[in-house]
Amino acid sequence: MITYCLYGEEVKKFASSSENCIGVGYEWEGESVVHLRLAPQAHSFGIVRSVLFIHGTRPKFDSDSSDIIVSVDEDGKALVCSKDDISPIEPIIIPSRENLYSRSKGLIEVGILEGKRVLIIGLGSFGSQIAIELAKSGVGHFALMDFDRVELHNLVRHTAYLNDLGRLKTDFIKDCILGKNPYAEVDLFPININEHLDILDAEIKKADLVICATDNNQSRYNISEALVKNQTVGIFGRAITRAEGGDVFRYRPGGPCYVCMIGGQWYNSMSEEITNEVSARANGQIAAYTSPEEADAMVQVGLSSDIEPMCNMMVKLSLIELSRGSESGISSLDDELVFPAYLWVNRRERHYSEFAPFNKCANRPTIMRWYGIALSRNEHCALCGDAPILDTGEGFLKDIDPELVKIHNDIDLETAERLMD
Ligand SMILES: [Zn+2]
Repeated sequence: MITYCLYGEEVKKFASSSENCIGVGYEWEGESVVHLRLAPQAHSFGIVRSVLFIHGTRPKFDSDSSDIIVSVDEDGKALVCSKDDISPIEPIIIPSRENLYSRSKGLIEVGILEGKRVLIIGLGSFGSQIAIELAKSGVGHFALMDFDRVELHNLVRHTAYLNDLGRLKTDFIKDCILGKNPYAEVDLFPININEHLDILDAEIKKADLVICATDNNQSRYNISEALVKNQTVGIFGRAITRAEGGDVFRYRPGGPCYVCMIGGQWYNSMSEEITNEVSARANGQIAAYTSPEEADAMVQVGLSSDIEPMCNMMVKLSLIELSRGSESGISSLDDELVFPAYLWVNRRERHYSEFAPFNKCANRPTIMRWYGIALSRNEHCALCGDAPILDTGEGFLKDIDPELVKIHNDIDLETAERLMD
């Protein structure tokens, strides 16, 4: 099926005219998405010209030949002339693979990052920013997982543009990565990981690092399980309602897992940001009986600038993990960012109403500062614990078969209670 996108203002303009009009359809190649416009639009690549490449030290213009002539000599030096300007000029050369990131040398070990493979699960406002940042840092191999397409409501926070409406987020992010690092390898998985645990497991096995940027606890649980099984490092991030604040979590083999954290008492009470009604209904954040009007009011997203701090911390933690073992500027952070979890607060609302005002905080917690959270592995964790205990929020219930408790209490309390009956 083809997705067609039209501009409302253009439809209005055409409806008020009396003449028919020949417009232009722009199709994303191989993606079955066509954007329909009344008139041709300026493109990043617009007019097509013919170019003749010749061997030699100087291009000579000949009126019968192509619009542009490029000469390349034995040493690889190129000169260009065109019909509009026949005196040869030096072109800008986009650096080759080994020189593309020479400016970052010293701060990050470019040679090491080039050989690393990062799996990014969830390409919403978190995953899209992180993917682009890691590409800018020179990470060489990516695997992208998300089954969503770019929708209108995404655009206020996502890196996608109006012209990307209707496209798979995996396709869009691949273009972004290649736009920053044309030598990167990008594998695409437009799938719901909760329904493809085998692919999730296989890809986690191949990855040096996993970014978990999904918007529900079921996927975080499934990712955690595969991370623990494969002993792979994973970095998680999320925002709570309206991005009042958020947290970042890093799983390292042998350390606490994500479920060790959300199984904790005070974390359970946090309500997560709901960004998408369809997925929130599917994962139980919005109950089935909720009316469309009520559901609409529950979808409350924060500002892009409010989730950027979490994305930034996730990128820094990623670069530390990927650079481990090398002597680079970023590796000095490893001695300071020692916590498995980090808390950030944007506004003193609801969950954080007890925080001190920024200007009068003394030594008390306040907004817009990172707080490291010391956590240790929970031996009763439903996922990684040696003696799992299920916490239903009303005291601990012991002796639960860990195989039955595949879903954490915070994810689906009803199922957990049914299993215990
Ligand atoms: Zn655990």
